[in-house]
Amino acid sequence: MPGRSPQRPPPPGGPYLVVGLARSGQAAARLLAARGERVIGADSGSPAGAAGLADIGVEVLLDVDGTQAAQRARCVIKSPGVRPDAPAIVAARERGLPVIGELELAWRLLPNAICAVTGTNGKTTVAELLGHVWRTAGEPVAVAGNVGTPLASLVGEVSADATIVCEASSFQLEDTDAFAPQCAALLNVAPDHLDRHGSLDRYLAAKLRIFRNQGNDDACVYNGSDPALRGVDLGGCGRRVAFCREPGAGQDCQAVVVGPLLELWGEPLLAVDELALLGPHNADNAAAAAAAAAMGIEREAIAAALRGFGGVPHRLERVAELDGVLYVNDSKATNVAAAGAALRSFERGVHVILGGSVKGAGFDELAEPVIERCAGAYLIGAAAERIEADLAPAWEAGIARRRCETLAEAVVLAAEAARRGDVVLLAPACASFDAYRDFEARGEHFRELVEGLR
Ligand code: ADP
Repeated sequence: MPGRSPQRPPPPGGPYLVVGLARSGQAAARLLAARGERVIGADSGSPAGAAGLADIGVEVLLDVDGTQAAQRARCVIKSPGVRPDAPAIVAARERGLPVIGELELAWRLLPNAICAVTGTNGKTTVAELLGHVWRTAGEPVAVAGNVGTPLASLVGEVSADATIVCEASSFQLEDTDAFAPQCAALLNVAPDHLDRHGSLDRYLAAKLRIFRNQGNDDACVYNGSDPALRGVDLGGCGRRVAFCREPGAGQDCQAVVVGPLLELWGEPLLAVDELALLGPHNADNAAAAAAAAAMGIEREAIAAALRGFGGVPHRLERVAELDGVLYVNDSKATNVAAAGAALRSFERGVHVILGGSVKGAGFDELAEPVIERCAGAYLIGAAAERIEADLAPAWEAGIARRRCETLAEAVVLAAEAARRGDVVLLAPACASFDAYRDFEARGEHFRELVEGLR
């Protein structure tokens, strides 16, 4: 991995207003307070742990919109969960204050080489996989994420020679300015979070900010097989490195999945069935990781790491095999693309549990994999009605469906219907907030329910 890019600007001067005091907002406030800056933290609710920031000298304002505080700040740090039209952000912009995200702030203060990963699906998997590659090679690494460790919490905590692998969501990238990772990977783009971004074009534009400021020595890793990226100007000056599945003649790809093989720079790296991860989409993820890792890591270590990586909980996680039926938890499949990828990971005989809260996009595209791979579908939650309507072609094709009151009912019915060799798959294609704290709580409940079948 090339060294630190020379031109990381220092953060704008304080006093700072941190808007949104959940995990990344708290990390940003702590970082700034530790540097002796004056920090006001505001949140429209009162997230766990926020009040404790007062102990380190942060002026904490809870259950407020933050517009008053914006009058006293010189720079605003916006948390990814805060909408761009939130009153404090609008007030700050009206005053002409710089507004940046926690990712941008942390990047400016870190000396490390950064490998950033974005995409609609697979960010956590690929970021963790890259961390595993670096560790397998015996190279120093830290992994930061949009859901796990905030990048800001790593400032001053990791040695300067460590590479930081950093998962970057569209919400985080939206608030970047000069952010220029030495390696940036865009895994795929499919409809998601349209309730927040408004349109697929705006969502894609947010994701492309990952490449925008890259220089000639940086690596711009992208999915050469994703129709959503065809003909798109990726931006920036980074060296283009494509990963592709079954590339067409003349397509220039550096990491490819061709038939049973994953090839890197024209040489076989390993057989796809050596991967511990399930499904064709995870072969794509492995190719993306190989392309990104090839910037700094020997190919033997990359291959060994890809073979040994068992995946991340709640992402196509094998929970149990009971009476010849495999139970798989893909609670993180919160959009149609991820649920489709999950279904395509099994040949047939899938009893899929779909539903939860709706995020704005329809479910029509699930009809095809449901028809191809499913024996039955169990519909739960607020989205059940919409799914039932959108998947009409599947029911017409003879796929059995059941409306269920709860996940517990769906698991019992799916288990009753499943035959030896079948798969019971939780891949909801929806967020979980209608019934659960988050996708992890939903996945853990699924695990418990499966354990209860023993
Ligand atoms: P993210 O961090 O982007 O949400 P995760 O690795 O947590 O990504 O995976 C989210 C969901 O997407 C999971 O259901 C997972 O099985 C699925 N998934 C992972 N990689 C891909 C991919 N390349 N294409 C489609 N779906 C994927």
